[in-house]
Amino acid sequence: MKVTRKRINKKQSIQLFLPLSSQAYLSQFYRDKNATFSGRILPNLEKELKAMQDFFGLEVTGKLDSNTLETMKLPRCGVTDVARYGHFQGKPKWKQSVVTYRITEYTSQLSKREVDTTITKAFQLYSDVIALDFKQIYNGTADIMILFKAEYHGDFYPFDGPNGVLAHANAPGPEQGGDTHFDDDERWTLRSRDINLLLVAAHEFGHALGLEHSKDPLALMYPTYRYVNTNGYTLPRDDRIGVQALYGKCFL
Ligand SMILES: [Zn+2]
Ligand SMILES: [Zn+2]
Repeated sequence: MKVTRKRINKKQSIQLFLPLSSQAYLSQFYRDKNATFSGRILPNLEKELKAMQDFFGLEVTGKLDSNTLETMKLPRCGVTDVARYGHFQGKPKWKQSVVTYRITEYTSQLSKREVDTTITKAFQLYSDVIALDFKQIYNGTADIMILFKAEYHGDFYPFDGPNGVLAHANAPGPEQGGDTHFDDDERWTLRSRDINLLLVAAHEFGHALGLEHSKDPLALMYPTYRYVNTNGYTLPRDDRIGVQALYGKCFL
């Protein structure tokens, strides 16, 4: 990888030069798409790089050091790490008590039954702690449409082959709201090897319910993938508090 660094004349404004892959990472996950001037998005690479380092609890150097580069290489969720909803705008959430979902395209790496069971389990992590139920439907349009597909799959965010981005999901809302896509170039498993579907699905459904990424490394909504034992898995504290703040607690 080649890093070009321009000699900076003290009087010139400081510009950070980064390899294209790092620029793409920052643009995808750290660019505040609302920060536009005359309709143009103004990238501030140093600011974005510092925001990224801060998010991951790295030393905030504003430089592309080895820890930062390593973190950028970790498999992760395709949703931005920049908070999209201000406190006063009201976060999007589902208003009904039963949210429907439909899997339109399955992965060939697991049986249909394994996928159905895993997706049900992932939703159950939430229905166990909030007063919301999920129902799988097999025809027509569901609130949350789910598919497994590689590369281009019908939206503006084509997947990127193995590793990198694993999946992404939209926040609650009409039309594509809540829709959840899994990159079928990943090796989906139900074990610790490769990419565990339950953990990724549970993370993505957090977005589909209105959660954003968390800086808490123990949270399910942490942006990078990390395997934890899925036997008897329950929603980590940070995520439970977050989703209950949106939907209220459920008392069984
Ligand atoms: Zn995510
Ligand atoms: Zn997609």
